[in-house]
Amino acid sequence: MAYVISEDCIACGTCIDECPTSSISEGEIYSIDSETCIDCGACSDVCPTGVISPL
Ligand code: SF4
Repeated sequence: MAYVISEDCIACGTCIDECPTSSISEGEIYSIDSETCIDCGACSDVCPTGVISPL
């Protein structure tokens, strides 16, 4: 399991520092590496637009 960021991401950067495994990458929209995500939900909890959810 991994969390995913939808195309509605506004690339605000709020989530990136919350990830304990550094699985989130910056970009036009942010993305999560499904190989290293441990499914903790920390990023989803802080996302101001609610675009991060479990796969
Ligand atoms: Fe990182 Fe946890 Fe979000 Fe996975 S669910 S990307 S481990 S903060």
